[in-house]
Amino acid sequence: MTIQDKRQFYINRAWVDPIAPNDFPVENPATLDVLAMISLGSEADVDRAVAAARAAFDDFSRSSKDDRIALLESIRAVYKRRIGEFGDLISAEMGAPRDLAHGSQADVGIGHLDGVLDALKRMDFAEVSPNGDTLLHEAVGVCGLITPWNWPVNQIVLKVLPALAAGCTMVLKPSELTPLDAMLYAEVLEEAGVPKGVFNLVNGEGPVAGAALSRHRDVDMMSFTGSTRGGTAVSRDAAETVKRVSLELGGKSPNLIFADADVDAAVRDGVATCFQNTGQSCDAPTRMLVDRSVYDRAVAVAREAGAAQKVDVPTKPGDHIGPQVSQLQYDRVQRLIQAGIDDGATLLVGGLGKPEGFNIGHYTRPTIFADVSNDMVIAREEVFGPVLAMIPFADEDEAIAIANDTPYGLSAYVQTGDDARATRVAARLRAGMVHINGADINWGSPFGGYKMSGIGREGGTHGIHDFLEVKVVARP
Ligand code: NAD
Repeated sequence: MTIQDKRQFYINRAWVDPIAPNDFPVENPATLDVLAMISLGSEADVDRAVAAARAAFDDFSRSSKDDRIALLESIRAVYKRRIGEFGDLISAEMGAPRDLAHGSQADVGIGHLDGVLDALKRMDFAEVSPNGDTLLHEAVGVCGLITPWNWPVNQIVLKVLPALAAGCTMVLKPSELTPLDAMLYAEVLEEAGVPKGVFNLVNGEGPVAGAALSRHRDVDMMSFTGSTRGGTAVSRDAAETVKRVSLELGGKSPNLIFADADVDAAVRDGVATCFQNTGQSCDAPTRMLVDRSVYDRAVAVAREAGAAQKVDVPTKPGDHIGPQVSQLQYDRVQRLIQAGIDDGATLLVGGLGKPEGFNIGHYTRPTIFADVSNDMVIAREEVFGPVLAMIPFADEDEAIAIANDTPYGLSAYVQTGDDARATRVAARLRAGMVHINGADINWGSPFGGYKMSGIGREGGTHGIHDFLEVKVVARP
């Protein structure tokens, strides 16, 4: 198998060599084959990319809304033509099974674009406020964008597209585990006609290239998606130069199943949604809270659904799950499964080790714990693997109290046959998104969380506003 040479960075509309080469292999998590060699960027590489973005800012920030609409439409067309390449790369570099990789993992590149495009078309960048002053909404400046590996295209487009819509210029530092689809996205942007210096890409490690961006005097805003640990580091690094920081971080989202729901279907869906993407989704419903009156039934259904969850290689079609993205992530999942066992939760299915027949690759066993109490490690820490914790509750108040008793507040899920209850409970949940009876949020709605799940929102109008400053112009 040939190892692709992907050592260059994309700066000023050209692929350029790193200032000092620093090789890093990109691994296929299912086969452990090395797919490509990238270079890890240094502070000097980041300086060069930021300088290009700074030089491009004056012109691009003054481009017209119509020009930027045309640019997004052009990106849409190129992305659509090349979408299959994204599916292949996502599957190869992060291990998403091919149907998922070619389905929602790649489709989000169109869905979010439509959400941003629609918002941009409806947006006024100048308005007269009721008090007579004029308000101008202007690009915030040069933006540093840092993205994770779990939904790689999703996170990139949720930053790059609103930044472009706002008239910002940018430097992207994608996850070093999934740089290849980010580099493919750079090709799409170039082909679509993104002007010189507007979009730049430097690969590298968080504490080096990521920190260099966060600390950079010429970067006006940092938009970060990843772990809470990474997000707090970015905030600290950005504080010295008083940058705007927007953060999309982790979650430990509750799924409240009331007795008046279709319990069997809700439990089955809850298990499947928790395990989707091998549990590597920030908004996964990882705490299943179940009304005590139907708890035994729910446990029986969960046991069956968990045992039926297929694990297989990413190259096969089907709705199975694949490997974790890395050895580090595998080890983390194992540690947290062990913590569940040590804390005395009931292991319903799965457990430690690899599934039978999957000794090569970072495969874990889909795991469900019942009788979890909300103070156990397995209920508090984000696992980021196919691991579900079931917790019984006595009544609506207790369900809400348990749901909110977490440092996170990204998503929440409510299953009930009573619409008034759904409205009441949704209002009391401290989370950025509430999904009722399996409903997904629509393209263009703000994605983001309360509490330690982040600051700011991505997607649609709110997403564009995160990349805008507001200026008041007063006249006599
Ligand atoms: P991570 O924080 O380790 O890495 C994310 C990105 O941040 C990578 O590009 C990494 O290189 C960079 N990074 C790491 N440390 C940094 C530092 N000190 N300074 C600057 N950059 C740094 O997270 P991960 O393991 O790649 O992703 C998984 C995490 O991301 C999970 O916690 C998950 O919940 C979260 N996530 C959140 C959302 C959301 O929208 N809320 C979406 C996807 C993932």
